[in-house]
Amino acid sequence: MSQQIRKERVAIYPGSFDPVTLGHMDIIHRAAKQFDRLIVAVLNNLSKNPLFSVEERADLLRQATADLPNVEVDSFRDLLVNYLRQKDAQVIVRGIRTVTDFEYELQNASINQSLNPDAETIFMMTNPKYSYLSSSVVKELAHFGGNVSDFVTPEVEQAMRRKFSALADDNGQQHK
Ligand code: ADP
Repeated sequence: MSQQIRKERVAIYPGSFDPVTLGHMDIIHRAAKQFDRLIVAVLNNLSKNPLFSVEERADLLRQATADLPNVEVDSFRDLLVNYLRQKDAQVIVRGIRTVTDFEYELQNASINQSLNPDAETIFMMTNPKYSYLSSSVVKELAHFGGNVSDFVTPEVEQAMRRKFSALADDNGQQHK
């Protein structure tokens, strides 16, 4: 009897993750159930002005996903479709919160499809609990001392506290 070898189903969840929120984590948990391997890939995006470095963002993601055996964390600066080929992955996972997300994501998915017809983008609807949640909202809240414990892991909360207090110290030095 011929044995059929099933190709491993690998998906990439790309994003800025500056920093990872419980909204991202919800997508990661759900996507990890659908694929053999899920690679959460931090985009080294030159056009944004991130709070955390790529390494810091990847470390926070590694801590948050340590209990998920089929999830790995990586970073990339290449075109997403090239990165997909490099990882022998077939699927791009993206989360959708709003109609605005959808319009932006549709445009990206269409471009990626034309660049690599084998690349399939799969959209996962946000958990309504997190539909308003974004890294920007969390950073703004933390910056003004608001409570972010419902939105991020304790490690991310601490990392933001440290980052904002270091930035405040730097500003203080400059204004001396
Ligand atoms: P990007 O700069 O690539 O949009 P983000 O880190 O903001 O990076 O988001 C990465 C992905 O996670 C995107 O597909 C985004 O729509 C999705 N996402 C972000 N926050 C949530 C959330 N609260 N619920 C569901 N999906 C989310």
